[in-house]
Amino acid sequence: MTPSVTRIPLLSPAPGTERHIIARRYGEPGARPKAYLQASVHADELPGMLAAHHLARLLDEAAGEDRILGEIVLVPVANPIGLAQRINGNLIGRYELDGGGNFNRNWPNSVETVIERVGPQLGANVDENVKAVRRTLQQILSEQPLTTELASLKLTLSRLAFDADLVLDLHCDSDALMHLYMVPQLWPAGADLSAEIGSRATMLSEPSGGDPFDETWSAPWAALQTRFPSKPIPMACFSATIEFRGQSDVEDHLAAHDGGALFRFLQRRGFIAGDPPPLPEPQCDATPFSGVDIIKSPGSGLIAYKRRLGERVKAGDIIADLVDPMAENSSEARRPIATRADGLLFRRRRTRFVRTGESIAKIAGKAPLEHRRGKLLDD
Ligand SMILES: [Zn+2]
Repeated sequence: MTPSVTRIPLLSPAPGTERHIIARRYGEPGARPKAYLQASVHADELPGMLAAHHLARLLDEAAGEDRILGEIVLVPVANPIGLAQRINGNLIGRYELDGGGNFNRNWPNSVETVIERVGPQLGANVDENVKAVRRTLQQILSEQPLTTELASLKLTLSRLAFDADLVLDLHCDSDALMHLYMVPQLWPAGADLSAEIGSRATMLSEPSGGDPFDETWSAPWAALQTRFPSKPIPMACFSATIEFRGQSDVEDHLAAHDGGALFRFLQRRGFIAGDPPPLPEPQCDATPFSGVDIIKSPGSGLIAYKRRLGERVKAGDIIADLVDPMAENSSEARRPIATRADGLLFRRRRTRFVRTGESIAKIAGKAPLEHRRGKLLDD
């Protein structure tokens, strides 16, 4: 059975202009389990897009051999708005230039509405409870105002994802090792994904405070479990954000590995027939997102790193010097920047000029940090 490719138009932002997304659908519509994967909501994070291309080739082959067991929906380019944003030759894919903010923040947070509406409907039957939650999510989506192109993009992607058993959002960081985010309720169930993709830092966050896409689909189930402990409510959507290394890591050999890993993960989870090889050895255990030191620059200047990606560091270690190239006294031009965490340096900044408050590094530690409270995601 060949995949069906659906072209879904977005709300036109101006006469003569219309963008669309493409959804590649594999398997019988409505079959279970359902997986939804999308790449590059941050449109300048391209490794996931290339991984999705490799995954599509494998899925096409599996579909040709009738090996798709459930339904798989793949959106290989999730953000055509961002992909078309350029300033002086540079792709600007993280924030919407029309004032919509960070493309992966402020997805519809339906947690309180779901609790309010589904609470009275919950009973002793787990399948009926799952159906009631999905019906309510669908209803909430149908009430979303559709006033801008960005709103129509978010609604279009949400409609494809809301009832999936598995949601994977494919991103990357600036200059980074492979890493992974999910809510704590999905661990250790998510250890297979972490090992399969070769995650070097897998972080559990509840909630991260920015309403990213992945949490939109896992958070309602976690919240319902907490609010109604006597009712049978599963984590019926496994959702995660995969960070496919850094923005420059757009290479066929990496993407072929990553597309293959996604394919094998889908196989292990029962979406595709066949026997995957044994799961690779995990490269990390999960750690709390509140244990990640996101180091902010104390001033503006050049960043001269002292530590490389993949190094294990201790609290107090100098990660980089901030260099003021205009300092009158050159002996005072450098300010050392230390970390407050013991852990793995898994992310640095690709652009080596920073302004005050911009993050220059991320260190994944095991222990929650005193200064990491409230909103955990940086923008
Ligand atoms: Zn991203």
